[in-house]
Amino acid sequence: MIRVQNLKKSFGSQEVLKDVNLTVKKGEVAVLIGASGSGKSTLIRCINFLEIKDGGEVFIEGKSIDPKKDDLTQVRQKVGMVFQHFNLFPHKTVLENIMEAPLVVRKPNKEELKREAIELLKKVGLEEKADVYPASLSGGQKQRVAIARSLAMKPEIMLFDEPTSALDPELVGEVLETMKQLAKEGMTMIIVTHEMGFAKDVADYVAFMNQGRIIELAPPHEIFNNPKEERTREFLNRVL
Ligand code: ATP
Ligand code: MG
Repeated sequence: MIRVQNLKKSFGSQEVLKDVNLTVKKGEVAVLIGASGSGKSTLIRCINFLEIKDGGEVFIEGKSIDPKKDDLTQVRQKVGMVFQHFNLFPHKTVLENIMEAPLVVRKPNKEELKREAIELLKKVGLEEKADVYPASLSGGQKQRVAIARSLAMKPEIMLFDEPTSALDPELVGEVLETMKQLAKEGMTMIIVTHEMGFAKDVADYVAFMNQGRIIELAPPHEIFNNPKEERTREFLNRVL
């Protein structure tokens, strides 16, 4: 479970997150939508401490994380993250990419780790690609490997920041399908996406961000069919 309470973040004099509150319980999927520059990526990055908040609290599994005292490497193990760009290691095979972080951090038995990695590749439908290098994969396949690589750390929560935005349209579906599967298996997720159809299918809640605040939070059928805030309505009219 994740809880963000009165989160604040500024860059210089610009207040990017003004007072953000969000709770995502175990097994829930929250989709974050909003205009460019509204603070979606900053919020996600503050949750796994790629950016350090200026105020408020971030609770992970009930514990308030203090970036000055807590081991952020450990925190990031619990909170997996998938970005728009895949950042796979080009000189490592698909299997080596998946095994890299757990080898360093979890230090398990290598054979067991390899079995786990192959299971993860099966999960994302890429078992036959274990021994190839990322350069020979399509964008959609690379992103599915990136998801598997993140899952290899056995995170409690997964954060996605526009995971399909850099993909050719015909490759978007396979990545969304993989995420849908994860949701079905009960993974707790926060997803920034412009894929409103996906949000309707998968989200428990949709949060609409506007100028550094979540101004509307509701189940997808409510937010898409009957938005309460004028700004939400305007935004949806533009993107739907
Ligand atoms: P998009 O939909 O375009 O990805 P977003 O909602 O994710 O937008 P953010 O990336 O969170 O928006 O950015 C919010 C604001 O904070 C923007 O005005 C941006 O320019 C600013 N910002 C983000 N990161 C930094 C940074 N590292 N330094 C300075 N300003 C930043
Ligand atoms: Mg962003």
